[in-house]
Amino acid sequence: MSETWKPETSAIHAAYDKKAGEGTMAVPIYQTTAYEFGSAETAANRFALRELGNIYTRLNNPTVGVLEGRFAEVEGGAAALATASGAAAVFYSIVNLAASGENILLANKIYGGTLSLTQYTLKRFGIETRIYDPQKPETIEPLIDDKTRAIVFESISNPSIDIADFEAIVSIAKKHQIATIVDNTVATPYLFRPFDWGVDVSVHSLSKYTSGQGLGIGGIIVERKGLNELLINNPRYKHFNEPDYSYHGLVYSQLPFPIYTLRARLSLARDIGAIAQPFTAWLFLQGLETLNLRIKRHSESALTIAKWLTTNKKVNSVSYPLLEGDKNYAYAKKYLKGYASGLLSFDVGDLEFAKRILNGTKIFSRVVNIGDSKSIITHSASTTHQQLTEKEQADCGITPGLVRLSIGLEAPEDLIADLEQAIG
Ligand SMILES: *Cc1c(COP(=O)(O)O)cnc(C)c1O
Repeated sequence: MSETWKPETSAIHAAYDKKAGEGTMAVPIYQTTAYEFGSAETAANRFALRELGNIYTRLNNPTVGVLEGRFAEVEGGAAALATASGAAAVFYSIVNLAASGENILLANKIYGGTLSLTQYTLKRFGIETRIYDPQKPETIEPLIDDKTRAIVFESISNPSIDIADFEAIVSIAKKHQIATIVDNTVATPYLFRPFDWGVDVSVHSLSKYTSGQGLGIGGIIVERKGLNELLINNPRYKHFNEPDYSYHGLVYSQLPFPIYTLRARLSLARDIGAIAQPFTAWLFLQGLETLNLRIKRHSESALTIAKWLTTNKKVNSVSYPLLEGDKNYAYAKKYLKGYASGLLSFDVGDLEFAKRILNGTKIFSRVVNIGDSKSIITHSASTTHQQLTEKEQADCGITPGLVRLSIGLEAPEDLIADLEQAIG
């Protein structure tokens, strides 16, 4: 709506015209499946994209549209597509670029769901995944060939809390004209600005910090301004440049729109249907208004608690990117906006002790989620990473005594007191 607004202003006002419709201050929930076209000609024009307008909620919806327009503006992107989940956003973002017989490069520090999606489901679709280390960019180039379609990584990884070396990754991708996809769920648009660093596509699970209260599942894909230039006439992305016969021969590269999310909508959302629902989109709109304030508070409390943990004699080590001496400290200083989210982890040496701490906390909930206003404690070795051997666990940085925290919005003093009595 306004090129000059700061993200926190866009988060409250962008993409919704209060003066249109009934003048409601809050964005209305358009809980509808379909739309009256008014005339046969309008219907035909909308289907042919000669006229943009509502067709069917699997393709577009006015409430979801506000979320898409607003989130894109908050992140500084050109356009967005909201999806049924973060998992669906990651899936669409990859298969919008890669097909059977092609490959993608995936960071080794990655969300478990993305790992299983790529290692199992996409493999069955004939898409190969090659793993690299996002903090050792020299591991990337040897994996690239003429079938490589995307380089995928997380800004702050869940659950390992590692920060990717964006500048190095993006410069390799640009040299080879390959699109980069960042999962920016944990950092949110406020802690890391993917498009300022030249990343092409950003995906998010909105279920975490954007919802902020664990109220629903959703995701979003955002493309950077100018991404069309990478896709047009690029031999890696022929499907954006050749007729799409499922859409009567439409050629995306000839359209005057941001074509990455447009194709994801017209082709993937149309055929697969994992789209955002109006009511959950509305919940995320409420969360987005205060995300800026909340993510900073989550981060400040996490840093306070991380510092306190380093003083506890029963704690062997603490990981938080903004602790001096942390292996991610230099990246945090370079890439993040002074905050590093509410995720931290600490190690108490053995499994039984870690479990005792989990059972002893009164405020922290034993839940496998992150980004909630309510603080969460997890023990990876006995839950999310239970199926792995001890060697495999060690490879993803999971030790038997590792405890993970997602710091919520409670008073940090109360959380410290709770941890203190649980650690004993
Ligand atoms: C939770 C999460 C996802 C998946 O999101 P859902 O909304 O649960 O489907 C993807 N990436 C990251 C980094 C996540 O934390």
